[in-house]
Amino acid sequence: MSLTELKNDLAGRSIEDCLIKIASCFPGKIIFTSSFGIEDQVLTHLIFKHNIPIVIGTIDTGRLFPETYKVFNDTLKKYQKEIKVYFPDHESVEKLLTEKGPFSFYYSKENRFECCHIRKVGPLNRALEGKKCWISGIRADQSENRSEMEQLEYDERRDLYKFYPLFNWSFEEVRSFITENYVPYNILHDRGYVSIGCEPCTRAIREGEDFRAGRWWWENRNDKECGLHVK
Ligand code: SF4
Repeated sequence: MSLTELKNDLAGRSIEDCLIKIASCFPGKIIFTSSFGIEDQVLTHLIFKHNIPIVIGTIDTGRLFPETYKVFNDTLKKYQKEIKVYFPDHESVEKLLTEKGPFSFYYSKENRFECCHIRKVGPLNRALEGKKCWISGIRADQSENRSEMEQLEYDERRDLYKFYPLFNWSFEEVRSFITENYVPYNILHDRGYVSIGCEPCTRAIREGEDFRAGRWWWENRNDKECGLHVK
């Protein structure tokens, strides 16, 4: 199916219907990657509640917040379904820590990219191996870069479709959904954290700051992506 055909097919459907439809287009070759952020929890709820045949995967970088592991565990307990974990290559992590110590990412952008590559991009590449569609919880208003994306895209480099079901949702809509459906969420969202990644690289944001300002806050750059969603 072409990108245009797929877009037309998804137009006007509810989120559940979109997920069901897209899962039927890529049987066994579709994955949703969750980092247990509040948007991701909406999608996890819908996939598990409606038994939609989409693998839910997560990347455990080894540097996550205890609060993130708690919502991971709460999610397993609530839905009693599997979330597939992808971990970094242990030899690469051992080499990085042996040669550069545990906080190399604070010292240069290159070091930060190196750490993100080992701990995030490597496991993500394994998660996406053989997949034809990748779902994520990105919303358009999360950053300037993200608003330039489209709800359904074709990634030539990875040779797969990318679908963002919550692309047009506001943060308030996400919050309401979580509350109304009693979905477990990361308690850090109540403490000023909006985009939650690794513990040493994430801080709460202040009023008026950009959605991604709390990620790699020591770096003076506008593009706060980590290599996962770059083309
Ligand atoms: Fe490493 Fe920080 Fe990137 Fe996590 S966010 S992989 S700790 S540099």
